Amino acid sequence: MNDSTTPPNTQCGHWIGSEQRYCRSDDTIRRYLQGCRSPMHTPRALQGLPEIPPGPGIPALREATA
Ligand SMILES: [Zn+2]
Repeated sequence: MNDSTTPPNTQCGHWIGSEQRYCRSDDTIRRYLQGCRSPMHTPRALQGLPEIPPGPGIPALREATA
């Protein structure tokens, strides 16, 4: 496998600088603005923050179901 090319959209594209390679994990990949990331390398995880729980995004709908 050639680790110098950008991973496809089915693998985590987080660059592990200390190991000079992409993560390339294909476990539970989700799409972010930065690209696809594994749970360990989401933007929130990299900041040491918990993931935002999924839920209705439109405030009007959120109040109607509460
Ligand atoms: Zn990763």
